[in-house]
Amino acid sequence: MKKTALLTILLSVLLMLAAAGCQQSAKKGSAGSLQQNEEMVNIYYLAGKVGMSMSEVTDDKITFNDTYNTVTILPKQNQVYVNNNYLSALGKTKKVDDLLQVRASIEDEIKSKLSKPVAEKPAVEAAPLAPQQQPTKSPWELTGKTIVIDAGHGGKDPGTTSAKGFQEKDINLDVAQQIAQILRDKGHRVIMTRNSDEFIELEERAAVANRAKADVFVSIHADSSAKSNLTGFTIYVGRSGSWSSSKLADAIDNRMAQTSISSNGIKKADYRVLTHTRCPAVLVEIGYLSNYWEAKQLKNFDMQKRLAQAVAEGITDYLKHK
Ligand SMILES: [Zn+2]
Repeated sequence: MKKTALLTILLSVLLMLAAAGCQQSAKKGSAGSLQQNEEMVNIYYLAGKVGMSMSEVTDDKITFNDTYNTVTILPKQNQVYVNNNYLSALGKTKKVDDLLQVRASIEDEIKSKLSKPVAEKPAVEAAPLAPQQQPTKSPWELTGKTIVIDAGHGGKDPGTTSAKGFQEKDINLDVAQQIAQILRDKGHRVIMTRNSDEFIELEERAAVANRAKADVFVSIHADSSAKSNLTGFTIYVGRSGSWSSSKLADAIDNRMAQTSISSNGIKKADYRVLTHTRCPAVLVEIGYLSNYWEAKQLKNFDMQKRLAQAVAEGITDYLKHK
């Protein structure tokens, strides 16, 4: 090849890189400028929205990740990183019940920078990927099981309100999203009836499971009572629920009993999400929001993680032995 030809190629590559650089900095600029009255979301909610699990939360640093990506938020430095690359300024934040709230618009910025499990990148960027970034098939093909996780309430229906002032619908969603993530990591196909703060009819929640021909349906709720001393989790099956539903309830009860929330056992009630589902179905009341201390526990991320882990393990135990 002639020297001039080589030079031309080199120049055009440089130009392309420069153009890409410009686009990036232009994007950064618009993301950094904040509108007033911008919608705020808490960091756990944000992590859930981008399909990740929280791995570290301190005043200085928040980290959440999935198999392929890590998001790091440095509130004091006003910075957000995706996979160790600077994404944008964090912008304004606030704290609600000791929990950091950030602008909701970060969600889309993060999503635009995430690495996907399937290699869709142009050849130019084809740097060798680490082995764990090259799955040969989509994860849920591994088990072939479909699990529907239903976060109770949502939108105009807040559910019960806790002794500490937070709403059941938010806690249900936080825990449900963590359960979903754990199950996905185990290779199951997981469908959530809702993945954000939206209202969905009870029949529609059951219909989601029926349409997907789900193997398991688990609805997540938190309890309330006029007696503020009541605590513990309770698992419900329908009054004429199947033998499989009872086995599923047993398996989840066994695992949840190993958390620091105590078991109130398995009870029967004809909740509509249980009577309208064709697959084995249970409803888990993860604890009492009407008890001051239990409410505090249920809002605690580590406790949510333990509960989510227990429910996910229970489901997995059931699927192994059914
Ligand atoms: Zn509820």
